[in-house]
Amino acid sequence: MSILLTTLNARYTHASLGLRYLLANMGELQEQTRLQEFVIGAKTTEIVERILAYSPTIVGFGIYIWNVEESTKVIAMLKRVAPHVVVVLGGPEVSYESNEQEIVKISDYLITGWGDVTFPKLCGEILNGPKPLMKTHAGVQPPMAEIKLPYSLYTDDDIKNRTLYVEASRGCPFKCEFCLSALDKTAWPFALDAFLAEMESLHARGARLFKFVDRTFNLNIKTSLKIMQFFLDKLEANPDDPVYAHFELVPDHLPDALKEGISKFPHGALQFEIGIQSFNPAVQTLVSRKQDNQKAADNIRWLTEQSHAHMHVDLIAGLPGETVESFAEGFNKLWALNPHEIQFGILKRLRGTPIIRHTQEYGLVFDPYAPYTILANRDIDFATMQRLVRFARYWDLVANSGRFTNTLPVLLGDAAFEHFMAFSDWLYANTDATHRIALERLVAMVGKYLQVRGMDKLEADALLASDYSGPKAKVVETPAPKRQARRLAA
Ligand code: SF4
Repeated sequence: MSILLTTLNARYTHASLGLRYLLANMGELQEQTRLQEFVIGAKTTEIVERILAYSPTIVGFGIYIWNVEESTKVIAMLKRVAPHVVVVLGGPEVSYESNEQEIVKISDYLITGWGDVTFPKLCGEILNGPKPLMKTHAGVQPPMAEIKLPYSLYTDDDIKNRTLYVEASRGCPFKCEFCLSALDKTAWPFALDAFLAEMESLHARGARLFKFVDRTFNLNIKTSLKIMQFFLDKLEANPDDPVYAHFELVPDHLPDALKEGISKFPHGALQFEIGIQSFNPAVQTLVSRKQDNQKAADNIRWLTEQSHAHMHVDLIAGLPGETVESFAEGFNKLWALNPHEIQFGILKRLRGTPIIRHTQEYGLVFDPYAPYTILANRDIDFATMQRLVRFARYWDLVANSGRFTNTLPVLLGDAAFEHFMAFSDWLYANTDATHRIALERLVAMVGKYLQVRGMDKLEADALLASDYSGPKAKVVETPAPKRQARRLAA
């Protein structure tokens, strides 16, 4: 065996779509190519040992923001114990600003951008000559029809136990400066019929959860409708064995035809990830994000009130020009729209993104280590940023977990951000922890805090108890079967 494709996924349940694309497009080298995935946190020696067990001539590593540090250690060890193994890197984390990266320095070759045709070509040259002269190879972007779809490479085990990532298009036409997709300038669709035929065969093999990684699912409404119809047909034909689909939406583009399609889905069958990022028009202009806030708010309200879709809406703290007060205003506005989850993200400086043009004027200070989280800026000092980081963590534990559905509205009152920030500060002061807080302890702490705020102990206990027996107002109302529920949480 001469070529091994590998990466460290963030979790076992995440099956790498990128590696499967490479494998599908290896052409005549496919027979001598294998795929082996690892999960971050695994022992470096064990990963290296398992890689070498394949006796590879070439190892292709997929490098992402979540695995760059561990992959650097793996490659450093691999090159020590087996210096003859040729290491080829690819992936978004090494596609920009690569010259300054340690992982690039210790590897043999690097492909930036799309690897579908450039990786097999480079492997052919390494194996059969002439030896490539350059270390860095700019990935060639072929016509979409020339890219072989990888879905048949999902194994039965992947289908049974892991999240199946799929994409009907690549790229994004928008230019939000904090986002890697801003560099794409446009979106490129795959041939829809061929794509749907692959979905059909995945479904026939037992796949029930499809997670679309398209950056903007609702860009081309005709395509969106066809994809939705595919899932509606499956739901109609197999109501007792339903499918689940997850899409990323831009919030201000929901024409009536799409709304009509969405409204036909039953409880729990649709999940939307919707990026708001900021409701502040000045910040939006600064980071080149085009968003009609009124339309976005109206659409989120419509989705909450008129559809059964589960909604996960993203906000980012730490953007240039966003103060704590303006972020709080946006957070409260979003909370009032009642999405199922608010994903409170902290700005990260992804390599290659244009956000750094604001560094001087807005005093942006980022962690030099992945995931390059913002530490401070002109408007939010380091200590305050850390308070926001803890807010985000506790928000996941208390609000997004769906475990405190009756207690949460009481905790938040009429000023969600301000009250949760006060709770977050208090919780940190009294636990000194943001991780490894067992649920029982968390429940006890929430109860204690309600009493600090003046609630009678019996009343606080009854309120918390109701979360374990009462209605779950903000979770998917028809729970997925256990296996699916586990994967939905991935
Ligand atoms: S944030 Fe979303 S809309 Fe903006 S560039 Fe990235 S993918 Fe596109």
